[in-house]
Amino acid sequence: MLTEYRLFIDGEFVDSADGRTFETKDPSDGSVIATVSRAGAQDVDRAVAAARRAYDEGPWGSMPARDRLAILARMGRIMAERQSGLSELEARDAGHTLRMANLFTVPLAVYHWQYLAEAAGRIDEIEAVPETGFPAPAWEIVQRCPYGVCAGIIPWNFPLIMAVWKAAPALAMGNTMILKPSPYTPLSALELGAIAAEAGLPNGVLNVVPGTGPIAGEALVTDPRVDKVAFTGSTGVGRRVMQLASGTIKNVTLELGGKSANIILDDADLDIAVPGALWATYLHQGQICHSGTRCFVPASLYDEVTARMVEVAEGLKVGSALDFESDMGPVIDRRQLDTIQRYIQVGQDEGAKLLTGGGVPEGVPEGGHYVEPTIFGEVDNSMKIAQEEIFGPVLSVIRYESVEDAIRMANDSIYGLAGGVWSRDIPRALGVARRMQTGTVWINDYHLVSAAAPFGGFKQSGIGRELGTWGLLQFVQPKYIRVYQSPSKEQKFWFQVLAR
Ligand code: NAD
Repeated sequence: MLTEYRLFIDGEFVDSADGRTFETKDPSDGSVIATVSRAGAQDVDRAVAAARRAYDEGPWGSMPARDRLAILARMGRIMAERQSGLSELEARDAGHTLRMANLFTVPLAVYHWQYLAEAAGRIDEIEAVPETGFPAPAWEIVQRCPYGVCAGIIPWNFPLIMAVWKAAPALAMGNTMILKPSPYTPLSALELGAIAAEAGLPNGVLNVVPGTGPIAGEALVTDPRVDKVAFTGSTGVGRRVMQLASGTIKNVTLELGGKSANIILDDADLDIAVPGALWATYLHQGQICHSGTRCFVPASLYDEVTARMVEVAEGLKVGSALDFESDMGPVIDRRQLDTIQRYIQVGQDEGAKLLTGGGVPEGVPEGGHYVEPTIFGEVDNSMKIAQEEIFGPVLSVIRYESVEDAIRMANDSIYGLAGGVWSRDIPRALGVARRMQTGTVWINDYHLVSAAAPFGGFKQSGIGRELGTWGLLQFVQPKYIRVYQSPSKEQKFWFQVLAR
């Protein structure tokens, strides 16, 4: 069923100014599922003007937090009612297997929206400054102020979750937003626009403008009326966004790429660690920023672990995202498939041993983009397949002699997004976790994040955090207000310094 989607600007669905559209395709079979208006610079200009108006003149900037959050809670309830439709949309547009979308990604997005809208209500708008009395007594407060107009630029891998991680905290803290989804997966962000309109979100508070990075993305990042950019995507584009944002000294938060390490210790329960390491790599075909695509295995267990990994990987069923039997679905498009296949070749050229996978699975729908779950053994941490983000179902297994070595190699990466440690000895695992240079470490677990905990990267994996109080506070800036306690001239400190 082919549908048409339009841009969401100032509370309305509108065509792009130049009438241009693009097609969004189902990665499971390559069929066109919708035509979508394509935002150009003029459309971004309209969206920014609407967001500016809603913040500067509209009700949003002056609305009491309680009322603002009540509207967001209403949006959360509508999202919850639409979960099954949203799951199907994520399956068709982004290739989320229906099992993953139904059980994990869509419920998580809905819960995170609801949690962030609620948690924002627990953050006081003002806070007292601790009394110092020097150089003169005063009443002092810090007010948490929204930035104003924020741009949210998001990738294609988790379209709804990413839209929520940007829009929920931005709006909850009193900002307005222009959301730019990836042109590969614009549909759930546009549905969020529809939900906003239905819930009575004032016009212009949330605008959704699917378009390309170089045109719509750069127009947003360089627009002087935009106060902050919250970006999620690759490290390369993040660098460009940071450079462009410097033109108008915008605040930026960046959630970027990763090459996360999973360290299996020699006392790990392999019945959990082996499937755990594969869950860490193959969920959503490895198209997750924190996918655990480097696995460090003690030399003493190397043969057993790799044999068990191969057995589990070969039992996974790859197929259409819409098939409930599929453990893994397609990768997003032909371009991503080519990138993954190129890396599989590079791994072999570099001398790693292809233990399983590497090809196209049998029996998958025609027109889709599929890769077998792939495992490389005998990987050296300096190889490209251990250092570069592939964003596909490719696991590099690296042998280690001592835990010291494993930690050193795990940290030897430009990235620092996440990692895992597998062990029966929790204090020992905690000791390793503390030394990993990453924003998240899972112990005997992977991928699950709490709405209340900060998520983000060390090193070139990013700046800033999403979720929890940390994430909400990224969308406010402090204003210091000082009230002199003694209004009489005689008692004023500065009369003794300069005035008479
Ligand atoms: P990408 O960097 O190509 O694009 C991300 C977004 O930026 C898209 O909306 C794109 O249109 C836009 N964009 C591209 N060029 C731009 C420019 N010059 N100016 C402004 N915007 C521009 O990333 P992708 O391929 O969509 O997603 C995959 C990447 O995202 C991976 O590197 C992955 O690790 C990363 N990611 C990170 C996180 C995280 O939380 N750290 C989460 C998900 C994905």
